Amino acid sequence: MRYVDATRPLVPGMFVHPGDPPFETQPVATLERDGFALRSLRLGTHTGTHLDAPAHFVAGGATVDQAPLELLLGPARVVDAQAAGRELDAAFLAAQQLEKVVRLLLRTADGSRGLTCEAAEWLRRSTAVRLVGIDRPSIEALDSPDCPVHRVLLGGEPAIWILEGLDLDAVPSGEHELCCLPLRLSGADGAPVRVVLRVAE
Ligand SMILES: [Zn+2]
Repeated sequence: MRYVDATRPLVPGMFVHPGDPPFETQPVATLERDGFALRSLRLGTHTGTHLDAPAHFVAGGATVDQAPLELLLGPARVVDAQAAGRELDAAFLAAQQLEKVVRLLLRTADGSRGLTCEAAEWLRRSTAVRLVGIDRPSIEALDSPDCPVHRVLLGGEPAIWILEGLDLDAVPSGEHELCCLPLRLSGADGAPVRVVLRVAE
């Protein structure tokens, strides 16, 4: 058994969605000057590896501090979706035997455009998935107008929460124990999250 960190490091200059605030950190106090070290942080709620709450797209939807703990801790299925190519469609997902899966993490090919709308609807309709994660900055193509995939996933009852910006390079495919705990930001639409998988070997 080993633990794998599936979180991307927060570093100045890292990718953020166009229009999001850049990640910044500055020393406020230093050991040399003040006898203790302390830094300030400036970042968006969707910086780096993060959890999208329904409130990201749904008026009155659950906020990130309301994420059910039992969803954030438990078995997750890691699926290698590189063979799906650029579009992760319903036919690919349907071949993965996901009916009973609650937490699904997708390792995608370089240049992937993420889930299609049809794939998101299939997840809603045909599986028990309540949390879907992906190793890209977004679950859908960054240039998709109006973010229909986010709306399908977050807008359902119950919602499917979304983990974005995972690093799954060192995580084998299969069933692993997931722990993903976002900052408890009151009333927020999302939050950075630390994601760790316990991999049985
Ligand atoms: Zn997001």
